[in-house]
Order: sequence, then structure tokens, then C-alpha cells
Amino acid sequence: MPSDISLTRTHSPKARPDDSSLSFGKVFTDHMFLMDYEEGRGWHDPRVVPYGSLTMDPATAVLHYGQAVFDGLKAFRQADGSIRLFRAERHAKRLNKSCAALCIPEMDADLIRRSFEAIVAADHEWVPSAPGTSLYIRPTVVATEVMLGVHPAHRYTYFIICSPVGSYYKEGVKPVRILATDTHVRAVQGGLGEAKTAANYAASLSAQQEAERAGYTQVLWLDGVERKWIDEVGTMNIMMKIGDEVITPPLGGTILDGVTRNSILTLMRDWGLKVSERKISIDEVMQAGRDGTLQEMWGTGTAAVVSPVGELGYKGETIRIGGGQTGPLTQKLYDSIVAIQYGRAPDPHGWTSEVKIPVEA
Ligand SMILES: *Cc1c(COP(=O)(O)O)cnc(C)c1O
Repeated sequence: MPSDISLTRTHSPKARPDDSSLSFGKVFTDHMFLMDYEEGRGWHDPRVVPYGSLTMDPATAVLHYGQAVFDGLKAFRQADGSIRLFRAERHAKRLNKSCAALCIPEMDADLIRRSFEAIVAADHEWVPSAPGTSLYIRPTVVATEVMLGVHPAHRYTYFIICSPVGSYYKEGVKPVRILATDTHVRAVQGGLGEAKTAANYAASLSAQQEAERAGYTQVLWLDGVERKWIDEVGTMNIMMKIGDEVITPPLGGTILDGVTRNSILTLMRDWGLKVSERKISIDEVMQAGRDGTLQEMWGTGTAAVVSPVGELGYKGETIRIGGGQTGPLTQKLYDSIVAIQYGRAPDPHGWTSEVKIPVEA
């Protein structure tokens, strides 16, 4: 089928790093995807071009008012050499949802999915194959109108860049220490918490810095009104196992609808576990930590899949969770998702999709 996405290949391919040297988001592939929006004309000119700088007038809207959204997904090299994306359709839909939240005109969801495939196909040689490695795909939409008035822009650019990334857990899954903050807030009802937007990350930095200075790895975010209800951890969704119940805060305004969150909830329900999407207070969690019923706690996100929590600090008290070790359910969830991603286990929900590599002329 002829593609509406044009391809211009680079004449100067870069040297590809060794799989063993990969970290996160430091090297980028040979190509990028671009598409433009102009009021009256709509989204147009989807294309894969050599990777390079975007030049912008200093008055470009995104540089001033932050009208920017992004997403993040991965492509995995399978044992037979083929390449599969994990939940591309869900990521495409979420990018559109984020666009809508920031008054950015939505794109055709199927074209977004095909844009992921087009960039990965063009840079297929960059998909690493060492265990635990993958190609991280970063679709981003920014306002490119040149103006200083505060209003939704009339021009946008959608771009995708890709980065080969190493195993998040080179030395095995490792628990982190997290600090619940009652001084900083990430998102509020009616705000942008449900959107994957640059602004939320800017809002998280000072709390993250404070947590690091206090010897913790991540911030546990509480709600912005009562400073009581657990929202998210760092830039991940949060889950915990108290007794025989697995609990995660419900979506509903301030929480990002994580694809990993959804995948893990689905697996646990498949396994017949008792899973609750309900509000849970920091006091309930601290009490469960003290009385020993808090068995496991973990964050979920595309980069790490799961990130076990070994210690939780709040108001000067620190509780250890599961002896500071990775719990059995956390480990099983990690192993199960990763096995589906690399094609080592059946994929009953059809979460992965193959990227067809065109035969070179
Ligand atoms: C991206 C993100 C997540 C995790 O979403 P995934 O789709 O699982 O990667 C969770 N919380 C926030 C705030 C995020 O930006």
C-alpha cells in the first residue's frame, strides 16, 4: 500500500552505539518524523526526514507559554529479529487526549499509530537486541506560531524522535526510597494532571530536588486539596498490596492514565487477584506499614515497567516495605509484562504489533 508518509533518508548515518553502553535518552537515531498544522489547512505533510535541529523564532509560542504535549512508548526486538511496538494504539489515543487538554488540534489516531511505525521502520537498525534494551519513541507536539499573545496557537509541529535505551535494571530490579510531600503539589482537579504535558514536569522539579537532598529517589504526590490522598509517584502511577488487596488510586482528573497501569491492572484481574481502584490516604498506607500488612508497593511506567518501593518517608517517619526487597508480585508483574513485550509469552490481549520493515530497493 502506498504510504502518505514521505521518506527522505539521511546521507550521513551516525555510528550506532554498542548495545552494552546504552543508558536512557542520550543518543538519538538517524531520522525523525515531522508533520505540520496550520489553521485552515489542518494537519499536513507527514514525513520522515534526517534527524536535525528545529529552528524557531524566539517568539515561538511554546517557548513562552508551554503549549506542549508528548508521549512515550517502546519498540522491542524479538528473538526472531522482528520488531514489535507495545500498545501503540493506546499511546496514539492518549497523545490525542493530551492534545485536547491543551487546545491542540487532534490528529487522525490511525495516522499517529502509523507515524510510530514509519519512524521505527526507517531506523529499524537502531532497535537494539541485547536483553532488556529497546527503542524508546518520543512523539511530541508543540505550538509553533510566532506570537506573544496568550491564546491557543494557530500553528503546531508534531515530531517524533527515537532513542535506543539500555535495560533500566542492569543489576536486577532495585527498590527505591520515596518521600511523600505535603508542601508541593503536582496536579489539581481541573488542571493538567491527566495530560502528558511539559508543564507537569516543570511543576515536579523542585519537590524532586528536595526529596533527593533528603536522601530519597522519588516524590510520592498527594492530592492538592487535602494533602492526604495518594496520587502518583515521581512520573509513575502507584500501586500497593495491603493484605490480599491490590490498591491503586482511581483516574479522575489529577492522575495520568498510564498504559503500564492499565496493562498491570488487566494482568492482575486475569490472575484473579483482588484489585481496587479506590482512593487511599497516606495515613492508611503508613498505618499498614506500621502493622505489617503493607506487603508491596511499586510505581508503574513505560521506562521501568515497575519500580518497587523499599522505603516510604512521611512527616519524619520512615517505613520499610517488604524488608526493603522487591516483592514477589512486583517481580512477577515485571517478568510477565517484559515477556509479552519481547514475544517470549503469549499476548492474549493483542497488546503488541509488528513493525513491517520495507525491503530496501
Ligand atoms: C507517562 C506517565 C506515567 C506512566 O505512563 P505509562 O503510559 O505507563 O508510561 C505516569 N504518570 C505520569 C505523570 C506520566 O507522565
